[in-house]
Amino acid sequence: MSSQQLRMTRQRLTILDELRKVDSHPSADEIYEMVRRKLPHISLGTVYRNLESLSDSGEIQKLELAGSQMRFDGNANNHYHVRCLRCGRVGDIEAEQVSGLEDAFCGMTDYTIVGHRLEFTGLCPECRQGRGTMTRGRTKMSAKHEEGE
Ligand SMILES: [Zn+2]
Ligand SMILES: [Zn+2]
Repeated sequence: MSSQQLRMTRQRLTILDELRKVDSHPSADEIYEMVRRKLPHISLGTVYRNLESLSDSGEIQKLELAGSQMRFDGNANNHYHVRCLRCGRVGDIEAEQVSGLEDAFCGMTDYTIVGHRLEFTGLCPECRQGRGTMTRGRTKMSAKHEEGE
């Protein structure tokens, strides 16, 4: 193996490793920050490229959830996600995929349905107790919720 191939393998493994350590479903930027602690010279472009190829090969999942930037999931198994409407945090719901949903809906459209994406929304435990931190610039909720904390 050439030294360049070795370096590329190491980058890929480090990215995969860091992503699998967390269940926060980080964005590419956040993964970049995590990986940089291990590989200070890695570029954001390299991180993006590796994330694309890892998700193409099914080792990780790319999550495109409403109202948030692309996130990544080190858990490649099928599971559902719940997104906090207030802070944008994304949690896992460890449940079997609902089966038969495609069949149930196939008569309602001319399309051939091959899959579905289901996203739950709600409030995370911290936001429910009024302790959650607002994600910068992402949520446009009135500041009055912050009072009296
Ligand atoms: Zn929250
Ligand atoms: Zn997940």
